[in-house]
Amino acid sequence: MIKLSKKISEISPSMTLAISAKANEMKANGEKVISFGVGEPDFNTPEHIINAAKDALDKGYTKYVAAAGLPALKKAIAKKFKEENGLDYDPSQIVVCNGGKHAIYNALYAVLEEGDEVLIPKPYWLTYPEVVMCCGGVPVYIYATPRHGYKVTAAQIEAMITPRTKMLILNSPCNPTGAVYTEDEIRAIAEVCIKHNIVVLSDEMYEKLIYGGETHFSIAAVSPEMKELTIIVNGVSKSYAMTGWRLGFVAAPKHVAKAIGSFQSHTTSNVNTMTQYAAIAAYEGDQKPMEDMVKAFGERRKKMLEVLDGMKSLGLDYVKPDGAFYVMLLCYNLYGKSYEGVKINGSMDFCDMLISHEKVAATPGICFGDDDGIRLSYALSMEDMLEGLRRIGNFVSKLK
Ligand code: PLP
Repeated sequence: MIKLSKKISEISPSMTLAISAKANEMKANGEKVISFGVGEPDFNTPEHIINAAKDALDKGYTKYVAAAGLPALKKAIAKKFKEENGLDYDPSQIVVCNGGKHAIYNALYAVLEEGDEVLIPKPYWLTYPEVVMCCGGVPVYIYATPRHGYKVTAAQIEAMITPRTKMLILNSPCNPTGAVYTEDEIRAIAEVCIKHNIVVLSDEMYEKLIYGGETHFSIAAVSPEMKELTIIVNGVSKSYAMTGWRLGFVAAPKHVAKAIGSFQSHTTSNVNTMTQYAAIAAYEGDQKPMEDMVKAFGERRKKMLEVLDGMKSLGLDYVKPDGAFYVMLLCYNLYGKSYEGVKINGSMDFCDMLISHEKVAATPGICFGDDDGIRLSYALSMEDMLEGLRRIGNFVSKLK
């Protein structure tokens, strides 16, 4: 029998698997399952982006290109940084990777030494700890409480710093909480990171998905000093409804980008060539389809929060999310209650019973390191969303 490596044996299997397997089985049996579990826009990729990929194929752009990305795409990304984030990046500081996830892996691999501590605000996107451990790092969690809008403070970060702390992972807008850090909050965090020489991996994948008047501010824009300590991760997956295309990127100090480019040249080589042409169209073409999508998410968010306000009397609560397309529905007040004699002990039980009794799929908060709630995505039609919320209300009202 082949013996697995220690490294891979330490990776946790996805905790969401049981619930999604159940949801898929029910759907296959023709049952009307409502899924709040989705982690991707339910919109199709805008047509002009699709056409750019088709055009690239027709023109025969089907060969290898530079491992770190097409020069024209890196130029388009550098232009985006300048215009949207006020950041000057030379194209040589950008590496185009196979999705945001791959960009994160590349960045951590490039920087972490065995035993380096990485600060991760919790609730966190579930991939961070796994990738940190894959790269020899040690995840150290900082609790972002609902009371503080699911955001960690500079003081909290500073209190967790040890001589082994190498990096902070900052994710704004945040998956799973939808929290968006303000410029002032980011400036305070930057001050601590500069003081202690902490690298920041700034995951800005949901940058464009912000509502309610908040704006995105990248920590790299704080000062040249902070920019030298920052690795930005971003990509087209969420912003342009392109999850299946697989394109993300890092922007980093020159020596870091160079190292990541070399590493990528030996691991995956370039991101598939037609996707890169599609991404040029995403950044340089018509922004209206993306803006329409954001508007639709904004309307759903507003409606969802209205309905959830009406469900507070049932023992549910939430913290207003300003970005991404998720809400953490706090249901810890209901733990200890029972549905038809079966007790709910945490978010996993809550989601398990919700799918079994009401055919509603959601993601248990425990998957993100926080058992107090469940994550609801509003990347589903308004009609399904309202029906799903009605079913959640129905489920909760039967608890004793
Ligand atoms: N970062 C966050 C916070 C995410 O939620 C995701 C995807 O769910 C990613 C990065 C990865 O995106 P991609 O699909 O481009 O790999």
